[in-house]
Amino acid sequence: MSQTFYPGPSRIHLAAFPPKERWDEWRELDSTAWPRRVERRYMLVPTTCFNCESACGLLAYVDLDTKEIRKLEGNPEHPGSRGKNCAKGPATLNQSQDPDRILYPLKRAGKRGEGRWERVSWDQALDDIASRIRKAIQEGRRNEVVYHVGRPGEDGYAERVMAAWGLDGHNSHTNICSSGARAGYHYWMGFDRPSPDHANADVILLVSAHLESGHYFNPHAQRIMEAKREGAKLIVFDVRLSNTATHADHWLAPYPGSEAAIFLAIARHLIEKKLYDREFVRQWWNWREYLETEKPDLPPTFESFEEVLAGLYREFTFAYASKESGVETSVLEEVADIVAKAGTRLSTHNWRSAAAGNLGGWQVSRALFLLNALLGAVAKPGSVYPNGWNKFVARPIHLPPHPDVWNEMSWPADYPLSLHEMSFLLPHLVKEGRGRLDVYFTRVYNPVWTNPDGFTWIEMLNDEEKVGLHVALTPTWSETAYFADYILPMGIGSERHDIHSYETHDAQWIGFRQPVMRAVRERLGEKVTDSRGSNPGEVWEENELWIELSWRIDPDGGMGIRKFFESRERPEEKLGVDEYYRYIFENSVPGLPQKAAAEGLAPLAYMRRYGAFEVSKSVGALHEQEVPAEELEDVRVDPRGRAFTRAPKPPPINIVPQPTPDGDAEGRRPVGVEIDSRIVRGFPTPSGKLEFYSSTLATWGWPEYALPGYIKSQIHPENLEEGEIPLIPTFRLPVQIHTRSANAKWLDEIAHTNPLWIHPRDAVRIGVRTGELVRVETRAGHFVVKAWVTEGIRPGVVACSHHMGRWKLADSGQRQLMATVAIRHDHSSWALARKAGVVPYDSKDGDTRRIWWTDSGVHQNLTFPVQPDPISGMHCWHQAVRIRRALPGDAYGDVVVDTEKMHRYYRKWLEMTRPAARVSPDGTRRPYWLLRPLKPSHAAYRLPRE
Ligand code: SF4
Repeated sequence: MSQTFYPGPSRIHLAAFPPKERWDEWRELDSTAWPRRVERRYMLVPTTCFNCESACGLLAYVDLDTKEIRKLEGNPEHPGSRGKNCAKGPATLNQSQDPDRILYPLKRAGKRGEGRWERVSWDQALDDIASRIRKAIQEGRRNEVVYHVGRPGEDGYAERVMAAWGLDGHNSHTNICSSGARAGYHYWMGFDRPSPDHANADVILLVSAHLESGHYFNPHAQRIMEAKREGAKLIVFDVRLSNTATHADHWLAPYPGSEAAIFLAIARHLIEKKLYDREFVRQWWNWREYLETEKPDLPPTFESFEEVLAGLYREFTFAYASKESGVETSVLEEVADIVAKAGTRLSTHNWRSAAAGNLGGWQVSRALFLLNALLGAVAKPGSVYPNGWNKFVARPIHLPPHPDVWNEMSWPADYPLSLHEMSFLLPHLVKEGRGRLDVYFTRVYNPVWTNPDGFTWIEMLNDEEKVGLHVALTPTWSETAYFADYILPMGIGSERHDIHSYETHDAQWIGFRQPVMRAVRERLGEKVTDSRGSNPGEVWEENELWIELSWRIDPDGGMGIRKFFESRERPEEKLGVDEYYRYIFENSVPGLPQKAAAEGLAPLAYMRRYGAFEVSKSVGALHEQEVPAEELEDVRVDPRGRAFTRAPKPPPINIVPQPTPDGDAEGRRPVGVEIDSRIVRGFPTPSGKLEFYSSTLATWGWPEYALPGYIKSQIHPENLEEGEIPLIPTFRLPVQIHTRSANAKWLDEIAHTNPLWIHPRDAVRIGVRTGELVRVETRAGHFVVKAWVTEGIRPGVVACSHHMGRWKLADSGQRQLMATVAIRHDHSSWALARKAGVVPYDSKDGDTRRIWWTDSGVHQNLTFPVQPDPISGMHCWHQAVRIRRALPGDAYGDVVVDTEKMHRYYRKWLEMTRPAARVSPDGTRRPYWLLRPLKPSHAAYRLPRE
């Protein structure tokens, strides 16, 4: 039986994939030549998809006669995606062949934003950029150099570049994406993401449209469907009847923001009926710390904790949850019973969705994980693992030290607990005069279009006093690139090197992205040293770009930067990508050299041939691993069971970023936790246990939220004004992905609009039918969109996907999914109006004459004020809006905004914060143990003296 399956990780029937022994020359018939029988010869080369965070494996079919990539399919050797892809994977081909893509470095020729460009050489661009960075560093203006990333698509390379330059200059998009969910998980288990073992679960509870567009959705979707085939029950929370909801056994569409109230009601049910795993709770929750801190009058016994626990969630009856959510009590009871019966085989997942939409959204994931923690469904088959255990990050050739600066523009002290950089507040911080940017990189990032409040971004980017030089590193045109000084063409998934590893299941794997045509030329015996030689035009990969730029910043090595980009094999010479990855694969990935040798290959050659390696098939319950005796030197166990040691920490094999709980007062480091007289690894939290009680929240100014709880959203009915209803703007379209997919013609043909989902009752109330125009008024502007009347959304709530509404100001740009618009501007009043939709056009690709759609959707995010959660820092996306039939003079796609109103709104939300200067218990800016992508030195954590 086993012989009928592909022997690699995919386990799919042999006929589905070309056997790997024949990847050098694979022959098959050309489907486009049908009915003629035309045979094509291909070399099959693996790489990794760059179109979402899942990093699925791809297999490029390179025509050996024309030396062109003809298609991309799944890589059966990839342990995460196992040969499968969503539509966006194969559409990488469109992105590569897009007739409108940017192929050469461009420099602006007129005023910023005017849309005039001239082609320049890479040398000209890099010399200019490098000299500015060098000057900023030498003049002590290190915080004026910032790298702002959208989709990283790799593990740690860019952070190391910033560290090598001595900057705290890493800025990410995470606070408009996932900080809400991360915070909820982080406070529980130290790591900030779940790694659900969906395939082995009995019950899967998803708070999102996870099957079609969630985090790691293709790898997860296939495992969820496997579990369903084995009889697992699927529960989906989604205000829309998403594709995922259609697959659910139980679809709940609660009032947005009420999800945590439901989870707490289920928790109450588990506690009241004593359906929880007492032994797990006794061993692994930090209940003793909670009692000693908050209930010092009670005996510190598990029995007294259970008595307290029984009362903690008393108010969260099913009736209360029903009142908050609008879901019938009987449905909630039924779902609670199903969850209870799952026992330890409960996999749950919340990533964006409710956690990203609501004030206090982080309590949604915290309350959701409470169900796992009650049932002991943590790090067991079919449950949820901490992500850091299911991810492998390999040690690179050079590891620069932590920078000794703190960038207040990314990590303002107003938000000491924010999980990531307060990136979307940047223009408001600049507007307040908190600082300026001298060199600002936007890299695969389009804040003008993706972030809320895009006109405030345009105001900042257009002001050369505030932003000295804006460099857009992008594989395609974007709204933000229009306001750049340089546009530098980056490679897509088949044109660049990267490594990555994600928590798709209980295992560890490492994937290798590579420039496909470079790999082909090497396999054919050519020597290639620069990816520009094999990519289209002068498209470059970032690995090589950063090495080159670093050498130009520090040409003689005097600034201490160059040494991190030097070869070890050839001292005094530049590091090359071959050496960089050769070092990693030979020295830092356990098992890879042996596996490669078994096939007669060097490790780098193995990764170039197969594109992925499974480091570990199963990781299991690391928290239960006993700490070896040699790590217990002069061990001290504190009264709560935290064990500290003087033994030095062994150098980690896996350098995945770790939370760093404090040591004891005598200089020992935390090494584990004592459970029933055994010292085991525990969790990377301050207590070493799962933190039901967060001392971090309690001591950093938020004691009222130290336990999993329920925070009423900014769109809770109590917080809405007369006539307002919630707008859900967070959902993705399954075949589009933010900015990058606009230049994929197959995807554009499938999805090119974003109508407003509106329930028939609401449609009747405002008098619109499907296709008619609706004006949606936020608190700082409005947009005009088409209605889609559907019972697939909860009454009293409207929804609009953010994956549409792309625009360009001039003819230059992507023409398959960007409308041409005019922008009017008078002080703080901004208006965007469509001049022309998408039309057929002549190009080297005959399909551009076959474009039949004109629509490209409406850009709603422009009208959203920033709404930063005062704890997690997450932008709370859901909007309080009024909807009405469009007024005379309104036109489809109109957007009108007042940026002064936007700034006032920012100030209003800022008032909710509890700044570090007020709440820090130890004079630092932020708890040191919390994760931070680029962690400065201890000294930089100290708040400046008044
Ligand atoms: S876009 Fe699709 S194929 Fe590509 S990584 Fe994401 S899920 Fe995988």
